[in-house]
Amino acid sequence: MKITAIRVYQIDLPLKEGRYTWASGNYVEVFDSTVVEIETDAGLTGWGESCPLGSAYLPAFAKGVRAGLAELAPQLLGMDPRALDVLNRHMDLVLRGHPYAKAPIDVACWDILGKATGLPVYTLLGGKAQEEVTLYRAISQIEPQAMAENLAGYRDEGYTRFQLKVGADVDSDIARIRLCADQMRPGDVLVADANTGWTMHEAARVVQAVRDVDVYIEQPCPTYEECLVTRRRTALPFVLDEVITDVGALMRALGDGAMDAINLKISKVGGLSKARQIRDLCITAGLPMTIEDTWGGDVVTASIAHLAQSTPAEFQFSSTDFNSYGTVTFAPDAPQRENGRMRAADRPGLGVTPDRDVLGDPVLEVT
Ligand code: MG
Repeated sequence: MKITAIRVYQIDLPLKEGRYTWASGNYVEVFDSTVVEIETDAGLTGWGESCPLGSAYLPAFAKGVRAGLAELAPQLLGMDPRALDVLNRHMDLVLRGHPYAKAPIDVACWDILGKATGLPVYTLLGGKAQEEVTLYRAISQIEPQAMAENLAGYRDEGYTRFQLKVGADVDSDIARIRLCADQMRPGDVLVADANTGWTMHEAARVVQAVRDVDVYIEQPCPTYEECLVTRRRTALPFVLDEVITDVGALMRALGDGAMDAINLKISKVGGLSKARQIRDLCITAGLPMTIEDTWGGDVVTASIAHLAQSTPAEFQFSSTDFNSYGTVTFAPDAPQRENGRMRAADRPGLGVTPDRDVLGDPVLEVT
């Protein structure tokens, strides 16, 4: 089987809440997502999607996805999409870095492998380890009391896990954590994600001030070393996200005992192939994961569902259903949240059928 065409679509994903705000004053109102379609000589088509969280979150940006794809796509024509390790090695040899541009190619090839074998992607990733996956809801950063009210509203929709966007000034972040913790019920889980927004002394003040609260602290500071300092100052459970970019970073952090869980984002590490490798290492090391992506729509949500569903429940700390945050649906058969949970389709591949009428004309076509 050979790749015969790669088409790239751009789609705007506005937010139901109007704006998503995280640390240090960063926000996005309309997400710029890139959808990739890979066509083969066997009549099978695969889909992938990559959507950075704006340009100020990771070293990634939406136009960079498409520039990376324009660079890569001509070098992939004629390759067998089912030979995923061969394909990934080739991508790494012809373009250094830029995992977020490679991710949608890798995911689309997993979709094709699933369709070629008649198996859902979760089976190819190790098998259905759980019947459905537990979701968290990200609570956009606004005034502390309003965040607590939003959290209560999302609990009414069925969520039991909540990730507060903190990383602003210390006093208001302490208020955010305390007011939201007051909303928790038995079985609920609260994470305060600073998204690199604190300096070490700010992080020290926050973890000291909320030491009596049942809350996880996620990625307090920009660098690994700063996070490790904060980790050693607090007994609160600790999550690393932005600095866990590859196997090397994970191995170092495991050796240092630097966290109790990681956040594994599919496009951050370069696709499902690399995410699977990290996922399997984490399971072997006894480390739970939030399995998700930087952002996205229906195809990203489907790929999250397959990776999460093939992960044992005790290691799948949470995931998220990005397609419920936005106002645009482009693959109506993508997973939909039910009672704070979702499940991947049992159809071959990712089980999603993007609507070309919604996607519009491709912005890039390589044949
Ligand atoms: Mg995070």
